[in-house]
Amino acid sequence: MDSLDKFAAEKLKKLEARGLRRRLKTTHRSSRGLAQRNGRELISFCCNDYLNFTQHPAIRQAAKDAIDGYGAGSGASRLITGNHPLIEELETCLARFKGTEAACVFSSGYMANIGIIPCLVGEGDVIFADALIHNSLLAGSRLSRAELILFRHNDLDHLEELLHSLRGAYPRAMILTDGVFSMDGDLAPLPGLAALARDHDCWLMTDDAHGIGVVGPDEDGIRRGSATCFSPRPHIPLQMGTLSKAIGSFGGYLCASRTVIDFIKTRARSLIYTTASPPASIAAALKALEIIETDPDYCARPMQKARLFTAALGLPAPQSPIVPLIVGDTEKTMNYAARLEDQGFLVTGIRPPTVPDGTARLRLTFSAAHRDEDVLRLAEAIRGLGLDLETRA
Ligand SMILES: *Cc1c(COP(=O)(O)O)cnc(C)c1O
Repeated sequence: MDSLDKFAAEKLKKLEARGLRRRLKTTHRSSRGLAQRNGRELISFCCNDYLNFTQHPAIRQAAKDAIDGYGAGSGASRLITGNHPLIEELETCLARFKGTEAACVFSSGYMANIGIIPCLVGEGDVIFADALIHNSLLAGSRLSRAELILFRHNDLDHLEELLHSLRGAYPRAMILTDGVFSMDGDLAPLPGLAALARDHDCWLMTDDAHGIGVVGPDEDGIRRGSATCFSPRPHIPLQMGTLSKAIGSFGGYLCASRTVIDFIKTRARSLIYTTASPPASIAAALKALEIIETDPDYCARPMQKARLFTAALGLPAPQSPIVPLIVGDTEKTMNYAARLEDQGFLVTGIRPPTVPDGTARLRLTFSAAHRDEDVLRLAEAIRGLGLDLETRA
C-alpha cells in the first residue's frame, strides 16, 4: 500500500473502532415522503424536507419549465454570465419575505456561511458564537481568522459576561447563532441576542436553515422563520438561510441591508469563484416561496405533527419540527435507529462530531407529508425501545 492509502486505511480503522465510521446508504425518496432503502419502503422521519416541497407538483413543474426555458446549468459564476434574471427575482422575493432591503443568493447554505463571515470580520476581530452552531458557521468563522469565542448554548448571561470582559479588545465583532438549532430543534433567544448585539456594537447573524417556511407565523400567518417567532420582531441585520430544507430546492441566501448586500456581492469568494445555481433550483425556490405565502394552513402542518408526537409521549412541546431524543451512547443510538428501521421507520442516529461527545441522539423531523396515524405509530415504536426519554442534552 502506498502512504496515502495507508494513511486513509489507518484513519478509517480508528474511526470504525469508535463507532464513527460513516457509510452512505443509497436511498430513493418517493412523492409521499417515503424512502426506499434495500428494496424496502420506509416512512422517513429524518428528512429536512419539512413541507415535502421536493415533491410538490407545481414546484417540480416550475423546475422543469426552467430547464426547458433556460437549460440545465447556469454556465458561469454570477459575476461572469451566470446572473440569470430568475436569481434577481428570487432575491427580491426573499428580501420582501424576510423584511429586509435586499438579499443575495448563494449556491448553497454552506457556501453562504463560508462566504459571508470572512467578508465582515478578519484577523484581530472577534466572533462570539453559540456553542452549538452549525458546522458551516464554524467553517466560515475559521476562514475569517477572527478570534472565535463560544458561549454556552442559548446562555445570554454567559454571552453578556464574555462581552463585558472581551468585546473592548477588538475593533469589530459578530454574534453568530442558528435561529432554530439543527440538531436540538430549539429556538435561539433572539430578542436577548439582539439587545446584547446592540449594547455591545456586535453584528448579529442568524442561520435560519430550519426556520424558514415552518416556524414563526407572522401576524399574517406566514411562517417567515425564527425572527417572527418573537414579538416585537428582533432586529437581525444578517439573516442567512438555505433553500435546501423547507424550500425543497437547493441554494443559500443572505437577507440584509442594500449596502451590506452590495458589499457581499463584491467580496464573497464563495459567490465570486463558484458557478451560479442552475435555473431549475431558482425557479423551484421561487414557486416554493409563493406557496408558503399563499397557503399558511399547509405550512402549519410540520409543527402540528411534531406536537402530536411529543404529546403522545408526554414530552415537552417542540419549538420546531425537529425533536431530538438524546441517548448519549453512540452504539446504543445506532442500535435504536436499526430497530426502528426494522419496524419501517427511517430515523437516523446522529453522533459526534455532528453533536457533542456523549450526546448521540435520534433526531426526528416532522413533515407536512406525514399522516397522523404514522406519527402515532412511530411514538408507539419509540415507547417500545424503552429509552429514558429526555429531549435536551
Ligand atoms: C443544512 C444547514 C446548512 C447548510 O445548508 P446547505 O444549503 O445544505 O448547504 C447551514 N446551516 C444550517 C443550520 C443547516 O442546518
